[in-house]
Amino acid sequence: MTFSIHGLAVARGIAIGRAVLVASSRVDVAHYFIKPEQVQSELERLAEARNAVCVELQSLHDNLPKDSPPELSAILEVHLMMLQDTMMVDGVKGWIKDRLYNAEWALTSQLDVVARQFDEMDDPYLRERKGDLEQVVERILRHIKGMATVLPQVNIKRNQQPRQQDLQLGDMDVPLVLVAHDLSPADMLQFKQSVFTGFVTDVGGKTSHTAIVARSLDIPAVVGARTASQLIRQDDWIIIDGDAGVVIVNPSPIILAEYGFKQRQAQVERERLSRLRHTPSVTLDGQRIELLANIEMPEDAPAALDVSAVGVGLFRSEFLFMGREGALPDEEEQYDAYKRAVDGMKGLPVTIRSVDIGADKPLDRTAKDETHLNPALGLRAIRWSLADPAMFLTQLRAILRAAAHGQVHLLIPMLAHAREIKQTLALLDKARQQLDARGVVFGPVKVGAMIEVPAAALSVKMFLRYFDFLSVGTNDLIQYTLAIDRADESVAHLYDPLHPAVLRLVADVIAECRAQGKSVSVCGEMAGDPTLTRLLLGLGLRSFSMHPTQILAVKQEILRADTTKLQAWAEQVLASEDPALLMGA
Ligand code: PEP
Ligand code: MG
Repeated sequence: MTFSIHGLAVARGIAIGRAVLVASSRVDVAHYFIKPEQVQSELERLAEARNAVCVELQSLHDNLPKDSPPELSAILEVHLMMLQDTMMVDGVKGWIKDRLYNAEWALTSQLDVVARQFDEMDDPYLRERKGDLEQVVERILRHIKGMATVLPQVNIKRNQQPRQQDLQLGDMDVPLVLVAHDLSPADMLQFKQSVFTGFVTDVGGKTSHTAIVARSLDIPAVVGARTASQLIRQDDWIIIDGDAGVVIVNPSPIILAEYGFKQRQAQVERERLSRLRHTPSVTLDGQRIELLANIEMPEDAPAALDVSAVGVGLFRSEFLFMGREGALPDEEEQYDAYKRAVDGMKGLPVTIRSVDIGADKPLDRTAKDETHLNPALGLRAIRWSLADPAMFLTQLRAILRAAAHGQVHLLIPMLAHAREIKQTLALLDKARQQLDARGVVFGPVKVGAMIEVPAAALSVKMFLRYFDFLSVGTNDLIQYTLAIDRADESVAHLYDPLHPAVLRLVADVIAECRAQGKSVSVCGEMAGDPTLTRLLLGLGLRSFSMHPTQILAVKQEILRADTTKLQAWAEQVLASEDPALLMGA
């Protein structure tokens, strides 16, 4: 049966493929494809873990104290039976052999299949056995996790991707689309080098970090699709319409043909845009507009150069810190990463933002911040750095050392208070002194602040006394101005870049910087939205930073724009109660 699910459009285009469901589990589960020759060892890895759990449960059962309740013994027997259950065992083997899923992924996939059958049972006692099965699977997962370090993980990377014929997947010779309840930004980054042609998640807002990374992959994605991971089943054919934010499940042949056509049209449009790669970014009235790239990893630098970005306007350094179970990168590792980004940009400036951990970017991918009531307003970004000066100094030293190899700018996120600014600059001095004392070479850096808290936007004059440049982080500026959690799909309809208050703050920051002759850019998602390019130009913006995948579409708008005419129009938009109404004018 065909049905559709509505969510938020975050990354444009159409993807058609078979659903690969990433089941959620209380245990952190790795998802990767194995090579065909690893099937046997993966089955053995699974069997070993299952046997270990069997021994564990049997011993628990045999050594139960005499006075323990009889139910306990019965529960352990049920768990032991579940370990032998052929539907579970054969199913898991199937995912490994036929789909080349790693053991953990195979287990959670089969758990998902069997759990649905439990859910459909009439007998409430049997229905409740689902919980037992989950516990058994969790035990096996924990055992596998203990062994995981022995076995190398093999992610399918674009550059080492087995050819489809090598995979001998038969049925899998089709595009795959990932469906998950939630993906952390770190998971998403891992999928950056994967085979998936589209993503759907139940949760998330348009500018959640998961959505931002999805956008950087340049593949269609829909987030905030609420029940998608429950309604879609493994292997369902699905269409992701990343423009409309719609997921169509089990489409009829007519719908498939229509979307196949749209997909080809999008490809034609992409090829047309790619012709603008080397066209100078200049408006009709001769204004040169700086187009910079936002990157998450040093490896993103070639993509930036490919679209002729004139530098990196935002390197989100926190991605080096995430998904490592709390083990922070040391100075050498960071220095190496920053140097690779600098080398990768071949002499162009690289703006490295100090770590922005917190809110929807937890250090550990499984660690949803449940200890703080409102993590977006908590110990995040510069607050986190200042709370751990040793960690911050390590990062600052690594950045200063990378600056010896090329033009590096340092950008500080989420500042609001003068004392935070002073502490930050004092620590930067200290980092220089420490390097001096060690006799280590380092280079000069320009220092900039992100304007992403309304308090900062309203204190722009004070900021300009301390900083060489400013960069407006509209994602957070909108979140904090409108009190809308950017990662919460239930309030996504209220997240509005065109709210007059947001526009006023952005306009005033740009105007003040221009008046003082200081550089200012926008590095939030507004900068990469071609429907907003004319407005930002009209407000006086001359430097935009966005994912490389968005640069050509924005450049196209720049080439068609005449800033002499846009200024007056932008004034009207600013003065309007409902600026969205004037956007087409
Ligand atoms: C922003 O807030 O606009 C920004 C660019 O930073 P991030 O999206 O990483 O919070
Ligand atoms: Mg931000």
